[in-house]
Amino acid sequence: MKMIDAHAHLCHNPQGMDAIVESGVFEQIWLMDLSGIGSLGPYELATQEEVLETVKRYPGFFLAFGFVDLDHAKPEDILRLRDRGFVGLKPYKQLLPYSAPQYFPLYECAQACGMPILFHTGLIAQGQPYAGKATHAYGPENMRPIHLAAIAEAFPNLQIIAGHQGWPYMEEMEHNLYFYKNITGDISGYLRSVPRLNEILDRRAHDGTDRFFNHKLHFATDEFYGTPASNARALRLASFWESYFEFVGSLYYRWGLPEEQEKFFRGNALELRHSFQNKA
Ligand SMILES: [Zn+2]
Repeated sequence: MKMIDAHAHLCHNPQGMDAIVESGVFEQIWLMDLSGIGSLGPYELATQEEVLETVKRYPGFFLAFGFVDLDHAKPEDILRLRDRGFVGLKPYKQLLPYSAPQYFPLYECAQACGMPILFHTGLIAQGQPYAGKATHAYGPENMRPIHLAAIAEAFPNLQIIAGHQGWPYMEEMEHNLYFYKNITGDISGYLRSVPRLNEILDRRAHDGTDRFFNHKLHFATDEFYGTPASNARALRLASFWESYFEFVGSLYYRWGLPEEQEKFFRGNALELRHSFQNKA
């Protein structure tokens, strides 16, 4: 079964993309543009143009979420991202909690445009130390999963993807999945939660649907595609998760049944995809 990587990034001057597309492992890869923040750890990030060029070069394979600076963007900036071909949005390290009302006009615009937002939650890479002016958030506080609940309530038609499992705020993440129809999550970036996932995936949501949590979580790698090491790691992560579902899930749990696995690896992402207004 081909997978959809629902949360990934792109490096500057990406290499080896043909091989990734032709690997037969992925059906789609959703690229989160982080060009607005410059560099991240060891990675030099792709520019907005490079992200869009990659989307164009491989029609239907890559989808792009545009970086939105919640502290400075205006609704018109979101319209501009939409018109350039971004299907969704990705904020990062904003100065206030995600649920701050001053961000609501942006969420309102995203909802009206049918653009999902992938919000990072929990543990986050450390950035530049304070130097006289706070230019971004420090630590994960503003990106706690619980802030997404307010947004889900205020904007019931906005599709919210909570990046990662929100560690160390796992209860908040589970609360969101349990109760809000328009919040789903991806499992990238934090393998620490794997033992807990065995049970979480079998939990029933109380969100007005008949979904279990395996119907609300997306496979994702959070890899920075475009370097040989990242490309290789993404393929290893794909086979790790495949093995986990085969050798743990299918033997011991409901979520390991083939039709339930399929939701996690691609079905949930496709379902979400149908709600996007930009079909590019
Ligand atoms: Zn990421």
